[in-house]
Amino acid sequence: MSSNSERIALVTGGAMGIGAAIAEQLARDGMTVLVSDLKLEEAEKTAQRFREAGHSAHPVELDVGQPASINAAFEHIATTFGRCDVVVNNAGIAKTFPFIEFPLDNWLATLNINLTGTLLCSQCAARLMLPKRWGRIINIASVAGMRAVGKGRTAYGTSKAAVIGLTRQIASELAEQGITANAIAPGPVDTPMTEVLHSADFKAAYTSAIPMKRYGRPEEIAAAVSFLASESAAYVTGTVIPVDGGFMSAGALGT
Ligand code: NAD
Repeated sequence: MSSNSERIALVTGGAMGIGAAIAEQLARDGMTVLVSDLKLEEAEKTAQRFREAGHSAHPVELDVGQPASINAAFEHIATTFGRCDVVVNNAGIAKTFPFIEFPLDNWLATLNINLTGTLLCSQCAARLMLPKRWGRIINIASVAGMRAVGKGRTAYGTSKAAVIGLTRQIASELAEQGITANAIAPGPVDTPMTEVLHSADFKAAYTSAIPMKRYGRPEEIAAAVSFLASESAAYVTGTVIPVDGGFMSAGALGT
């Protein structure tokens, strides 16, 4: 069995936000992390920061919205590292529009990046996991894939619900090959994404619906990824773990 120091973990959208925190945690766990992103320069800076802290990290250019970019990145990974033990499908986009006017181009772009990107990266990663009969596929979904969170998330919420369905399918098909697939459903987390997406009003409404009365931190999502990527999670597959301060479990919070 491999130890973490031999393992290669790819994080998509790893340059900033939740993805950067996940990559940092997996690097701390002793894995070599491939910080992949659409924005190569940002990925380079993030990987450099990890290397300066004594970790093993490399940038990889990967646009999960472009099948050719995914194939090229995995060819590079296969040639350079010869394996991919963990893939964290974290890259995602979100924009809100009223349901009635929801633009088709944003619907297609959101499903392409959030869902099809997850499918294609999981397929490519699984092909590299099969020879070792060990692998961890970890998909970053959202509580918005389990409940309707605020208005305007027609494409985002649907894409994340589909990511959860895809996770179950992957889990059931690859279980006998030693590959697990799980999803994490973060509640709201302070990142560059929510800075743009969440208005002050929405932030206040969201916070009041969370029993812990606060947004999550990227490191709190990374901690759950670390568990799912570990040997300790060998018997956990096909599940979705909310990391949400109790949001999924709560209804009306008044007395
Ligand atoms: P972010 O926008 O802050 O960062 C996303 C990263 O992904 C960026 O580095 C960006 O360059 C990269 N990216 C975007 N499109 C890409 C593409 N096509 N290919 C490769 N990289 C791409 O986002 P975040 O808030 O850190 O969210 C990360 C993941 O967590 C997303 O899937 C998001 O849906 C999910 N999520 C976030 C929250 C939240 O509150 N922040 C809550 C639930 C789920």
